[in-house]
Amino acid sequence: MRIDLHTHSRASDGTQTPRELVQAAAAAGLDVLAITDHDTSAGWTEAAAAADEYGVELVRGMEISTRHGHWGVHLLAYLPDPTYAPLVDELDAVLDGRSARVPMMLERLRGLGIAIDDEDVRRAAHGTAATGRPHVADALVTLGVVADRTEAFDRFLGAGRPANVQRYAAPLLDTIRHVTAAGGVSVIAHPWGRSLHRLSEADLAGFRDAGLSGLEVDHQDHDREARAELRAIAGNLGLVVTGSSDHHGAGKNDHELGVNTTAPDQYERLLDLADAAASAAGRATPEIVRG
Ligand code: AMP
Ligand code: FE
Ligand code: FE
Ligand code: ZN
Repeated sequence: MRIDLHTHSRASDGTQTPRELVQAAAAAGLDVLAITDHDTSAGWTEAAAAADEYGVELVRGMEISTRHGHWGVHLLAYLPDPTYAPLVDELDAVLDGRSARVPMMLERLRGLGIAIDDEDVRRAAHGTAATGRPHVADALVTLGVVADRTEAFDRFLGAGRPANVQRYAAPLLDTIRHVTAAGGVSVIAHPWGRSLHRLSEADLAGFRDAGLSGLEVDHQDHDREARAELRAIAGNLGLVVTGSSDHHGAGKNDHELGVNTTAPDQYERLLDLADAAASAAGRATPEIVRG
């Protein structure tokens, strides 16, 4: 069983349509795929149809942009009822923040002498509501300003670069509670990711007490030492350990589908916790497509 629980499509900042993503997962020999676009469930329906067609087990999820104190934290939410109003409202606020940020980033870029406008980004965004820096990066590639997303982040969009603009993110603890109340489970994505603050064991214990189910330990942003430490913390706290690619199609190097995977027993624990959350909340968990 090869299980990859964190991937992106064009419904956010991946470069593949949800259908192409599922097709690629089947070609890569994955048995289980979670689609986890940033802050949206917009790709779920197309991915589910493709999962049925290609014989891949699909877990519907998303990666929610949250903050805890000053720190940005990415929260993977699996199998929440996507119509649960408090969750919908929080995601709408995040998406509004994403939309409002685009013109501010473009203003900064124009200030640097780059001729780029809303329409350039709109074309690169392929209709997603979760417009992000990668779409601005893609527009800069099309305009011939940079060679790829990495160069765009290094020169303009990354932390501390001149066109980097903050945006709204959902409060972490409230969001964990919303996901649980929506009958889903949550997992901290790349908790010690490259550009992130290193969350302490005490921080993570607090998140667990709010309802967190797991930690994404096996991720390309974590070296061997970080993985060993995080695995030990997950053990201490009784959290599920996941592993995944954080695949973005051609948008991110070294994140090929299946490059990290989740152990079957950990996946089963996560599904059991989702079932329990859905029963407790009296909500229907989005069905898992068993291809
Ligand atoms: P945003 O959603 O606008 O905050 O942008 C964050 C997204 O940018 C992340 O989810 C990554 O997909 C992407 N990203 C961050 N750094 C890089 C990079 N150096 N190269 C390509 N993509 C990146
Ligand atoms: Fe991304
Ligand atoms: Fe992330
Ligand atoms: Zn991701």
